[in-house]
Amino acid sequence: MPSHDMEKMAHCRCGKCELALKGAPIVTSACYCSSCQKAALKFEGLAGAEPVLQTDGGTPYVLQRKDRVHCNHGAEFLKEYRLSTEAPTRRVIATCCNSPMFLEFKGGHWLSVYRDRLAPGERPATEMRTMTQDRRAGVEFHDALPSYAKHSGRFMWRLLSAWIAMGFRSPRIDYVTGYLDD
Ligand SMILES: [Zn+2]
Ligand SMILES: [Zn+2]
Repeated sequence: MPSHDMEKMAHCRCGKCELALKGAPIVTSACYCSSCQKAALKFEGLAGAEPVLQTDGGTPYVLQRKDRVHCNHGAEFLKEYRLSTEAPTRRVIATCCNSPMFLEFKGGHWLSVYRDRLAPGERPATEMRTMTQDRRAGVEFHDALPSYAKHSGRFMWRLLSAWIAMGFRSPRIDYVTGYLDD
């Protein structure tokens, strides 16, 4: 099967919400920015929630073209959360079991799906770390994984290449209808 026909499912922990991810991800990365850490602490504090952050404070994501993400079921449980009312980024939670599902940057052509939503055997390896300038005090990396203080050129190039392939369109995600804490 050609790689663009492959589908992987991203599930909330209880299984009520399911997203189908078609084809290979744009890129996989772990983000260390302070916003991702702050949001994760919020999510980890919700009823029944599990850890969102890795032990080093990073949040692993699978970046997927928006036109290759489909909500199979459970959209009624998806609620958005923003760190502030003006924040251009929203993070979307499955409120049935308080699982963070994905992050959407306003106007972006991709979704950053929380990698933990994929079944353990289907999680693609992280290719790089981004925004490590915000990492927790005392965290040092001693492996071969590329680590960038901000967003690397390689990361931006992958995003741009995907956008070119999409004809510079940024499809609308219309299946998230409510707000966390409502
Ligand atoms: Zn659930
Ligand atoms: Zn981040």
